[in-house]
Amino acid sequence: MRKRETLEKFKEQLQNNKMFSSILISNDNQELLNDFSNEISRMIFCENYSLENDDCYNCKIFINKTLLNFVTLGDGNLAINKIDVLDLMQKFSLTTNEVNKFKIYVLANAENLKNESANALLKFLEEPPANTIAILLTKNKSQVLSTIKSRCKLIVLENENTLSEKQNLIKEILERDKNSILLANAELKKLDKSELIAMLEEAYSKTIVKKYLNIAEATLKLIYDLKFTFQTNLAIDVFLIHLSEVI
Ligand SMILES: [Zn+2]
Repeated sequence: MRKRETLEKFKEQLQNNKMFSSILISNDNQELLNDFSNEISRMIFCENYSLENDDCYNCKIFINKTLLNFVTLGDGNLAINKIDVLDLMQKFSLTTNEVNKFKIYVLANAENLKNESANALLKFLEEPPANTIAILLTKNKSQVLSTIKSRCKLIVLENENTLSEKQNLIKEILERDKNSILLANAELKKLDKSELIAMLEEAYSKTIVKKYLNIAEATLKLIYDLKFTFQTNLAIDVFLIHLSEVI
């Protein structure tokens, strides 16, 4: 799954009070995994479950790293010690009244969870304290013990390079001549709606407000229509016609 899609899914689960209590996220890039687990955690703590940092009180203290209900174990490489797992379990069994009801722990490299540490964690995964969420990260899901894997919701995170190629589609369309701009409608309609929204938002903040201010309003209108109306094909046509007229 893509990052954005995963966040949207989790947001829905949170709003319906059906958030998974343990998630295993797999990708071969540790940095991407770390960033993404931070994004998910911030959203879970956020007062509004906002997909982006909305500067609410909880988002702020999360970003400032002053949140006690958020713990990370493992550095992405070394084995995770049993003592650290026990320590974590002890800490998370106590009740706190911090910011919101959730407590989150991240295991940076679940494939290094072996033997005693894994055994210690299993029961915790199986019967977690209320509102505790485990986010396990792995660069190699085939090395994660099956007993751990079977207790988690597995998310295989797609690399974003395919997305950024497509993200350039909007930017690329802006470079085209009038007729080719109009022909782009089939390409845009083929895309997944959330993907198109992500693309437009990215193009808006990085390119349009800097270079193409005359289409800024139309871009925001299209984003709005994609999010809140059903006439999305029509909205795409209107947007492209506008583009072909003013660019
Ligand atoms: Zn927030």
